[in-house]
Amino acid sequence: MLSGSLGRESLPRLVADVADSLTPLHVAVQYRLSGVTEMGRPALVLEIEADVPLRCQRCLGLYQQPISLRTVLPVARDEVELARWESDDPMLDALVAEPDMDVVALVEDEVLLSLPVVPEHPEGCCPVEKLI
Ligand SMILES: [Zn+2]
Repeated sequence: MLSGSLGRESLPRLVADVADSLTPLHVAVQYRLSGVTEMGRPALVLEIEADVPLRCQRCLGLYQQPISLRTVLPVARDEVELARWESDDPMLDALVAEPDMDVVALVEDEVLLSLPVVPEHPEGCCPVEKLI
């Protein structure tokens, strides 16, 4: 099992994508990666707990979006096997086994994919005072 925590310096694409990369807001990502067998295939289970600053589309205020996800990524032996799996299941999110996989990039990808399309404070939680 592999685990770690990442800050903004390790996550350039995420920082570029979220609110204002210059704000001193906290970007924190904790991850845990472990190997399992899922439906007869080797797979990685990636669990992520993150806290990412986003700009609310309703009040334009910054807020911290908590993200919690668990994803199972089957690991193919090679591109041929991956292509076969994907033709069976076009929605499959799988990887090809690599000796030195870039775990940080994988974690960053999954966090980027899980960001809300329209970031907003929870209903009714926008601050009353607007700073614009
Ligand atoms: Zn808001």
